[in-house]
Amino acid sequence: MSLITCQEALDAVARHMAELAPRTGVEQVELGQALGRVLSADVHADRDQPPFPRSARDGYAVRAADSGVRRLVGAVRAGEVWTGAPLGTGEAIEVMTGAPVPDGADAVVMLEHVDATDTTVLIREQHLPLAEANVVPRGQEAHAGDVLLRAGTRVTPAEIALAAAVGKAVLPVYRQPVAAVLATGDELVAVDETPAPHQIRNSNGPLLAAMVRQNGGVARVLAPALDTRESLLERIAEARDADVLLLSGGVSAGKYDLVEDVLLAQGAEFYFTGVRMQPGKPVVFGRLPATETHAEQWIFGLPGNPVSTAVTALLFAMPMLRALGGETAAQPMFVQAVLTVVVKGKPGLTRFVPAVLTSGLNGATVVPAGWHGSGDLHGNARANCYLVVPPDVETVTAGSAVTVLLR
Ligand code: AMP
Ligand code: MG
Repeated sequence: MSLITCQEALDAVARHMAELAPRTGVEQVELGQALGRVLSADVHADRDQPPFPRSARDGYAVRAADSGVRRLVGAVRAGEVWTGAPLGTGEAIEVMTGAPVPDGADAVVMLEHVDATDTTVLIREQHLPLAEANVVPRGQEAHAGDVLLRAGTRVTPAEIALAAAVGKAVLPVYRQPVAAVLATGDELVAVDETPAPHQIRNSNGPLLAAMVRQNGGVARVLAPALDTRESLLERIAEARDADVLLLSGGVSAGKYDLVEDVLLAQGAEFYFTGVRMQPGKPVVFGRLPATETHAEQWIFGLPGNPVSTAVTALLFAMPMLRALGGETAAQPMFVQAVLTVVVKGKPGLTRFVPAVLTSGLNGATVVPAGWHGSGDLHGNARANCYLVVPPDVETVTAGSAVTVLLR
């Protein structure tokens, strides 16, 4: 197994993500169903935004250049439009937030800044407005035809709101990528079976299926494979239609770790077969090239230990899955936080320590969740992120700024 650094491995995945052929397959979904999907076309402004000069305050529309007491000549609410004559010298019109500012007016004075009667408005000396005060000019946010959202954007509530504002009741989105999930190991039984003392329940299958869904993919979960060539071959053939194949287990150096061999025999090419990281060192990334009958398939061979599977899937496989779903900004999410205790490094390896990130207005702190190695699912579940300890560090002192991988 030749090892590369974690950064080299991230770069390798990113390079292949950047070179993916354009996505094909588009669906039309109702706006309310578009959350988490990826736009397959740009969204444009259907008209100027705002479409009229909009009052940003409850108050009085005036001419900034006038002076003295103004004559109050009317009122406009949001949803109305002023139909009288344009505002003339020395006049004021009451306006509400969101109302179109009447022609002739060039400023709005907040109602808190005036002394008003039923017929007059006197702006207090210290609040005399400059032209354009509290008026959002037509088209300030966007002009009709402007691109507001780019194809390749994952839809969050912010995109939903913007699409709604420009009248997109239906959005074009890419087909969801399909990930085949294949756990391997003679010792595995299904969650609803009773394991013998020497058997364990397959937790990586459900973990990976959930991660796939969380990242916008469709999970096709296969029955686990045994640690034999025949069983692996059979399952890998069943999985061949999927965009990605996520394997867990069988990639270490052990006698029954056959995944790589079997994939090689199927014509797979590998871009890395080991990374200087802990947990997750034996992780494999490769591809089955396109054939006459099948499109290319991206392969992630993830080490079977549950925390190793979780970390390597998060770091390498999920960004690729998202990119296959058409998302242009797909990448693992790293942030900075302040470490509150001392943490040991592993010289030569990038460590990913299950940790708890706590955040507030003043930023974020992080502390290891307390775990007992790469098989410790309980420790992993207590965590909400992974603290990254770089390979060249022996000890990270309390109070240091550290990098955290969000999940
Ligand atoms: P392997 O990578 O196949 O050598 O497996 C490493 C460790 O992870 C072993 O202790 C396995 O029993 C465990 N393991 C492998 N696959 C799974 C799985 N699907 N669910 C839970 N544990 C697993
Ligand atoms: Mg195994």
